[in-house]
Amino acid sequence: MSELEVVTVGSDVFLCRGRDVNWVILREGTDLTLVDAGYPAYAPIVEKSVRRIGGRPEDVRGIVVTHGHVDHIGGLAHFHGRYGTPVFAHPLEVPHVRRERLEQATPVQVARNAHRSGVLTWSLRITRAGALRDVACADVQPLTPGSPLDLPGRPVPVATAGHTSGHTAYLVPSAGAVATGDGLCTGHATSPTVGPQLLPRMFQHGDDAAGLTPLEDLDADVVLPGHGPVHRGPIGEAVRAARESAAARKW
Ligand SMILES: [Zn+2]
Ligand SMILES: [Zn+2]
Repeated sequence: MSELEVVTVGSDVFLCRGRDVNWVILREGTDLTLVDAGYPAYAPIVEKSVRRIGGRPEDVRGIVVTHGHVDHIGGLAHFHGRYGTPVFAHPLEVPHVRRERLEQATPVQVARNAHRSGVLTWSLRITRAGALRDVACADVQPLTPGSPLDLPGRPVPVATAGHTSGHTAYLVPSAGAVATGDGLCTGHATSPTVGPQLLPRMFQHGDDAAGLTPLEDLDADVVLPGHGPVHRGPIGEAVRAARESAAARKW
């Protein structure tokens, strides 16, 4: 896979795929919203994705965070520091983004699984991408779940606690799309399968299957996952497939 692939979903929604994590751009006129911001070393690649759709990094009006794992918040400091971009997260995820607590797989947990297919090369790659850096973002603001945010694309935060305590998906009603973060993925460098799934258990802080339930009945037929390709089809079917895949998961 290349450094960056930008997939257009409708005219103003873009799934940006870095080598090991995705993020989403929503556009309204020239104004933009980012959902997540990649690993720390991805900051120039996130900027490149913005430019590739004809935008400017200074036009990003806000970054909404699915959850506080390093692969999703690594670019926050760059955007907030250079452009003053405001950052928003679910109230329960704010302390995680601030690193007042950590709900992430430790290097020891990863090392214990290093014998599994894909884990060692992935862990070396993400270390180069800044996975061990301090990514605390103090200036994150709590958002209100359940109603559209006053940001380009009008994303609606949907609380999907499970993968982390304040994990949040973002529904984009105008596109029938939902950015599911790590609450529902379609692939990962350490996963042998492609298709709706939950990540391996070492990545899960809580009851990851519980995070699928709030997604099930959303009016969406495009899944924009935190890892893996775009999935098209009713979200309810994707949730069912993810549950089946999770039940068969070995670790
Ligand atoms: Zn995660
Ligand atoms: Zn992730």
